[in-house]
Amino acid sequence: MEFPKIFDDEFYIKCINLATSSKGNERYGSILVLDSKIIGEGYNRAIVHPALEKLERRIRQGMANHAEIEALNDALFKGNKTENSDVYVAGYFPNSKRLFFKTEYTCVKCLPHLRNYEISNIYVPTPGGWIKKDLNEAYEEAKKFVNGTHQKRLEAMRGEFYISQLNL
Ligand SMILES: [Zn+2]
Repeated sequence: MEFPKIFDDEFYIKCINLATSSKGNERYGSILVLDSKIIGEGYNRAIVHPALEKLERRIRQGMANHAEIEALNDALFKGNKTENSDVYVAGYFPNSKRLFFKTEYTCVKCLPHLRNYEISNIYVPTPGGWIKKDLNEAYEEAKKFVNGTHQKRLEAMRGEFYISQLNL
């Protein structure tokens, strides 16, 4: 499937290429980068099986591994040190043929893990290029997300487990 590139960047193209291996309606690729070198890579793994079709969407989502965690696990399995590395995440929605981009990072599922492994920054794609967030900034944004208008939706989608991980 051909997608328009929103910006020409080696890491962005790498993330999108990884995302094409994903099977779900939301496809993300992610890499861990240290000193300009890719030390881990992954894509989100939605579980696609007819038996699971009957389950609620939020339950299926909870069962999926996010691309960021797959990239982190890949780096760890390869024996790479993750301290001070940066996470890049990008993706697309195949049904609507839209690219994923946003100016804030609010993934409360991955944030605690990225902090545990001392990731420095998260790069999020926008039409103009990557936006860099340090972990503290990302936490502040996630708190606003959790405390704000999205709270009910977030609770419904992800349950209290992820929210409590943030120690809000
Ligand atoms: Zn995530």
